[in-house]
This record gives sequence, C-alpha cells and structure tokens, in this order.
Amino acid sequence: MKVVHFSGFYTLEKLFCSRYTSGMQKNAARSGRHIKLPTSVSWIRNQLLRAGFEAYAVGGGVRDLLLGREPKDWDVATNATPVQIQKVFPNSVYANRFGTVGVRRGGTTYEVTTYRVEKSYTDARHPDEVEFVKQLDEDLARRDFTVNAIATDGKQLIDPYKGQGDLKQKLIRAVGNANERFQEDALRMMRAVRLAVELGFKIDPKTQDAILHNSERLKLVSPERIRDEFMRIIASPDPYRGLNLLLDTKLVDQFLPELLAGKDFAQAKHHKDPVLDHNLLALKYVPSEDPLVRLAALLHDIGKPQSARGTGQRRTFHGHEVIGARMTKAIMRRLHFSNADIERVTNLVRHHMFMFQFESTDKAIRRIIRRVGKENVDDLVDLRVGDRLGSGVRIGYNQKLQLFKERVVEVQKDPIDTRMLKINGNDLIKDLGIPPGPRVGEIMDALLEDVLDDPKRNTKRYLLKRAKEIAAEPAQKSKANV
Ligand code: ATP
Ligand code: MG
Repeated sequence: MKVVHFSGFYTLEKLFCSRYTSGMQKNAARSGRHIKLPTSVSWIRNQLLRAGFEAYAVGGGVRDLLLGREPKDWDVATNATPVQIQKVFPNSVYANRFGTVGVRRGGTTYEVTTYRVEKSYTDARHPDEVEFVKQLDEDLARRDFTVNAIATDGKQLIDPYKGQGDLKQKLIRAVGNANERFQEDALRMMRAVRLAVELGFKIDPKTQDAILHNSERLKLVSPERIRDEFMRIIASPDPYRGLNLLLDTKLVDQFLPELLAGKDFAQAKHHKDPVLDHNLLALKYVPSEDPLVRLAALLHDIGKPQSARGTGQRRTFHGHEVIGARMTKAIMRRLHFSNADIERVTNLVRHHMFMFQFESTDKAIRRIIRRVGKENVDDLVDLRVGDRLGSGVRIGYNQKLQLFKERVVEVQKDPIDTRMLKINGNDLIKDLGIPPGPRVGEIMDALLEDVLDDPKRNTKRYLLKRAKEIAAEPAQKSKANV
C-alpha cells in the first residue's frame, strides 16, 4: 500500500485539531459510532489504492456520517486523473463534470473526483475550467464550508479547517475568507442557508455578514441552480427560518423581490400581520410536506400589495388571488420551473379563496372541485389550513373544513369531470356527425355544466339530446386561462 504524505498543514492541523478529534472520538465511542464507511465506498477506495493512488471519502457523506445522519450521497476525492479513474473502473461514466467520474456500485453512483481547484472566477458562476492538483489539502481548501471539508480514509479524519469543531457547535462557516469564497462562487450563499436549515445549524456571524455583503452577486448564478437550493430550503424541516435567513441576508431580493412588496404592508380586520409576515407564517404552518404546496403557501397572498384599495380598516384586496396567480407564474417561469409545477402552484394560489359554507350545495362543491381539479383539492385544503393558522387562528382544521373534505368525497360520486359523463367525444363525432376538433371539447364541457347542475341528467339519452341543441348554438369563446 502506498504511504500517503501530507504537506505541512497536516502536522499543524493535527496539533490544533487533536482536541476536537479526541473529543469527537470519545463522542463516537459513547454513542457507539465510529467512522464506518459503507462497503462500496471502501471498495472504491481500495481499488484506487491498489492502482497506486490516494483516495478519501469527502464532503457531505463524511459530514452526515459524523452527525449520525443518513448520508444522501458519497464523494471520493483522489489524485488519479479522470482517465486514470476510468481505467480503474472500466464501467464508470465520465460525465465531464469538472473531473468527476461516476462509479456505479450496487445500484448507486458514487462521484469520484480528481483533486482540483477551480481555475477562473470571472463571473461568480460555476467555473467552467478546473485545474487538477496533487494534494488533498489543496482540494479541501476549495470546498465551501468547514463541515464539508473533512476527508477520511475510514480510520483517520483529515480536518484542516476544524470542521468537527463546527459540527459540534452546529455552525456553517466558510472555509478560509468568507468574502472571497462567495465572490468565487455565489451559489455557496444559497448553500449556506440550505445547509443551515437542513442540518438545524446556525450560520457563523462572519460568514453571514459576508453573504449580506455579497448578496447581489447571486444574480450571476443560473436560475436552475438558485431554484434547486431554494426548493431544498422550502422542503427542509424549517422553511420558515430559511426564508427569514434569505430575507436577513438579502438573498431573497435577488431572486424573489416580489415578496418584499408585502413588507410592512398593513392588512385590515382579522389580519393582524403585514402581508409579508402572513405569507411567511402560512409557509410555517401549512401542514403539507410537498415543497410545491409549501411554495404555494409562501406565495398565496403575493398579489395583495398590488390589489390593495383603501387604507386602515377599510383596506380591501379584491382579486388578489388572480393577480397573485399571474405573479406566481411569472416568478416560477423566471426560475425555470417545469410547466407542470408552474401549473400546480399557480392553480393553488388562484383558488385559495374558495368559499365554503355549511349550507353550500353539492353543486357549489362540485364546481370548486372542477375548477381546482380533483387531484388538487387536498392540497388546497392544506393551503387554507396554513392560511388560517398563519393569520393567528389557533386551530387549522375547523369543523367547516372537515365537513368540506367529507363533502368533497361525497359529491364525487356524481360526475365532476367530462370523463365521468355517460357519453364521450367519440359519441358526439359518430352519433351527431360533429367534426373532430375543439368544438367537441366545448360541447363536452357544456354538457358537464348541465350535469353539475343536476347529476340525474347523466344519461346517454339526455346528453345526446342536449348535445344536439348545444351544437346548433354558435360556438362559445373558450374560458380564459389565468
Ligand atoms: P448534499 O449531498 O446533502 O446535497 P453536499 O454537501 O454533499 O450536500 P454536494 O453538492 O453533494 O453537497 O457536494 C459534495 C461536496 O462538494 C460538498 O460537501 C462540498 O465539499 C463540495 N461542494 C459542493 N458544491 C460546492 C461549491 N459550490 N463550492 C465549493 N464546494 C462545493
Ligand atoms: Mg453530497
């Protein structure tokens, strides 16, 4: 086996880290934990070692293992070049992502990355050039946070930046000079907030100051990368704290400035909080774990400042859900969400004001279901619960909402969409000679309206008769979308 030589820093780090290391090991012993790498990671290391290279587990996997959390993925750093890595693992894939080779083992892909530093940081985007380096210490130096810059061979920890100390103190701290690190890669600022809320850590004050100071540079990062970190913050155990961190550091200003219009924007009547605070509280209390439903909660009243009329107790926000839906669509497009995701969130924001009374008719309920879509009703109710709890109401599900949920199930025994009608588009084309095209859909929609009014009308005989009448009427304009 090759003897691994470390440069000077290692002795130094051994000196000032021994305290942490021994503390950590004591801890590990007490909790019955030790550095036990997964067998696949050890196997990958051993293959590389046998071929004469160095290899260490690094990054999030080591961090999570030391925290006693289930690692999401594993990264291995090595002094072998991508070509050499591929020779050691003939079935690997070189995705050409900055020297990272994907090695598959037991159904999982492990990222094996050549020791490297980023080469040019002209625009704070992810660098498109990397430079391979010889030493592990140089590779650890380019990593974002101290807790992500710990390497291990399964026996020892190599921890030049005292990541273990920060793990103990639950701190996200930049490696080296925070200011410079965020100037190199602005996405790291989002990663700091994301890691803080995922792990339940604080951000070290100096690191947080540096984020505030460099926040405008986030504009240089691609929308996809911002979106992915943002959605992980939303999906985390504490999205409310995440949003507050994004506000405190002014990162929100860079990618979601619409939220800020609600700052100190007073509401009337039962709403004691300004619009922004209320949106954040709805996110805090929405019971859903679905990140898109949580996003809808955060954005549900985003249209309020624009739709406000009047002041004081007489202030109204008529149509804020329509404006809000439009804004939601624009925001999500800008962040390159998929059309399906945009549709779902926009739809929830658009319909969050749905009315339900004890005396609501089946017909009224069927119309709500039809408008928002059967598959979205539970999410809509969750959004309403978050909205209520976020307005200071102590109980989310009141009797009324419970009853609404029951009635939703009840009324769906009757048709609520055209697929539940006793005839279909083909019947119209065959039996009534209506040419295929959009007109068929329009007639089916009109028939559904009729059946929503009275479910007894859902017979083939009635519907064909009615279709004939409707077909004779001039074509309607199709309903405008949001
Ligand atoms: P998770 O896997 O939970 O998302 P992670 O910390 O493992 O978190 P990855 O994106 O898997 O994050 O990255 C693996 C490692 O690569 C990190 O732990 C860190 O050492 C390094 N890293 C990732 N992104 C950056 C970055 N933008 N700047 C510097 N180092 C980074
Ligand atoms: Mg990872």
